[in-house]
Amino acid sequence: MGDAVLPRRCVACHAGIKNPHANQLARFACCACIHLLEGMSNVRCRRCGLTLGPRPQAFGWTHCRHCKPEVAGNVDQQSGCVVCCDYTAPFDQWIAQLKYGKAHGLGAFMGTWLGLNTQKAGCALPDLLIPVPGSQEKLKQRGYNQAALIAKHAGRHIQRPVYTDWLVKTGEARAQAELGRGERLHNLRGLFRATRPMPAGLRIGLVDDVITTGATLQSCEAALRKAGAKSILLMAVCRTPE
Ligand SMILES: [Zn+2]
Ligand SMILES: [Zn+2]
Repeated sequence: MGDAVLPRRCVACHAGIKNPHANQLARFACCACIHLLEGMSNVRCRRCGLTLGPRPQAFGWTHCRHCKPEVAGNVDQQSGCVVCCDYTAPFDQWIAQLKYGKAHGLGAFMGTWLGLNTQKAGCALPDLLIPVPGSQEKLKQRGYNQAALIAKHAGRHIQRPVYTDWLVKTGEARAQAELGRGERLHNLRGLFRATRPMPAGLRIGLVDDVITTGATLQSCEAALRKAGAKSILLMAVCRTPE
């Protein structure tokens, strides 16, 4: 089972790994796949993770056009968002393999990558991580929750604990794919519940695999805030582009 710890082949493309000690990601993936990750733009909206265009720093942009009004309204000064890449090829296939193909090596790779990006983001590191919970039914089908797997490896990388039972899913929403942006948020309201009072002085990292509209994370965030959380960092590997 040594391979599970130190795979000789890239978890993403299965090419041979020449130098597994080259950097922190090289024990998971080949140079070509790591290069793909490093080419992704990380200049993103601090609220929802959308890319901000080629030269946002020059214009002083920190938020996308959807989030600007909300931030200006002072609703959300203590949040932040870390996203590694757009939900496009080949990353969408990596996520699919993680979700449906039991590709746990990819989970370790992407979780570590998320941990690295969190360190690079320049914001305060979270004190603990909470993954977005999946439904009981999916957990039974797949045997694992991909967000929890990513959180485990991100947490290991930044040396923070992961609590998988602090947030639970209390019901099933209608399939999100059928709904529009506004409807999605309404559909998910009240679907998640914190299982204990949140320590207000701590910064919580809320972890998911993909941000699609942000509705799921916002619903989770609302549940954590209701339980007393003050500072929440949203962390996801991928973000669906506009
Ligand atoms: Zn590869
Ligand atoms: Zn935004």
